[in-house]
Amino acid sequence: MEHKKIFDERINDLVEHIEQPKKREKKEKPNLKESIYSLQLDELKQWLKEHGEKPFRANQIYEWLYEKRVKTFDEMTNLSKPLRDQLKENFALTTLSTIIKQESKDGTIKFLFQLQDGYSIETVLMRHDYGNSVCVTTQVGCRIGCTFCASTLGGLKRHLLAGEIVEQVVKVQQALDEVDERVSHIVIMGIGEPFDNYDAMMNFLKVINHEKGLNIGARHITVSTSGIIPKIYQFADEQLQINFALSLHAPNQELRQKLMPIARAYKLDKLLEAIRYYTNKTGRRVSFEYGLFGGVNDSVEHAEELAKLIKGIKCHVNLIPVNYVPERDYVRTPKNQIFAFEKTLKKHGINVTIRREQGSDIDAACGQLRAKERVHETR
Ligand code: SF4
Repeated sequence: MEHKKIFDERINDLVEHIEQPKKREKKEKPNLKESIYSLQLDELKQWLKEHGEKPFRANQIYEWLYEKRVKTFDEMTNLSKPLRDQLKENFALTTLSTIIKQESKDGTIKFLFQLQDGYSIETVLMRHDYGNSVCVTTQVGCRIGCTFCASTLGGLKRHLLAGEIVEQVVKVQQALDEVDERVSHIVIMGIGEPFDNYDAMMNFLKVINHEKGLNIGARHITVSTSGIIPKIYQFADEQLQINFALSLHAPNQELRQKLMPIARAYKLDKLLEAIRYYTNKTGRRVSFEYGLFGGVNDSVEHAEELAKLIKGIKCHVNLIPVNYVPERDYVRTPKNQIFAFEKTLKKHGINVTIRREQGSDIDAACGQLRAKERVHETR
């Protein structure tokens, strides 16, 4: 009961933040030195103009940040010393320090970074045959409360700044520079709910997508939400070419709200209305993420119900066999049942894939490494 109360309070906070952002802005904005990576090219030009510098310097700074990927302002040798000093005074270039780097046999690398204020976050590099994908974190902790997720246990500590999200990709790229490889894809599916930190997430997208930034194509970027309806409408109206995923995990309202307390605030029928709005507005399909939890949502009957629920929506279903989560009681669905679920969806003409497991020999599930290594947090 106490547990439910805590999550209800967190969801109420979330809804207030989404629907009355001004009211919570002050309370939730971290008081930190701004990261230089937070600035879009035009914002940097504007800042330079206001500080008596020529706007073209912004292109040079972007080149140092995203092409040469320097680690200090002093390496920006074509800038004057006074300008470098001004940049140092106003911005941080390094806001993440690597505490742990775990490498799996399959090439997956998991990073635990410490932030300026002592919190820690996780970022994961996954190797695929089509390229290198980075899964970024958008918040320290999370207030969504999904019952299968370790990241939400301590609630939300704070939102990440856009620059802190960009720097995760830069840090991974710096590690890949050593083996002459490139980050080609981004998934915004790490710790946190990206739509609960919407503005920072959008700024992040603009920087990494910009041809003078990290230049990662929109179609190589995927953002995933647990279902914050007002933000789905807003995102649809942005009309981006970015891939969009919804963590669905259940074929009906009752089961969904048991698995994901957010569903009590944003109901399934209204959520699917928002999804239909998205697919109509953008012409793009949505990807439904469906975690299979042994004995909970993984029967053929559930698959039938799911097929009925999403009928007519331009979509793809990604089945995710979930590993045992130490803090929770969920167990893995047996293989034959995973295939039976897949077959049922296919029978209804639904496009479906089963997610390949990666990094199984390291703490690769969302939040596992951070949960285990909280000892490194200095606050
Ligand atoms: S699965 Fe994602 S949205 Fe749900 S609690 Fe974990 S981090 Fe938050």
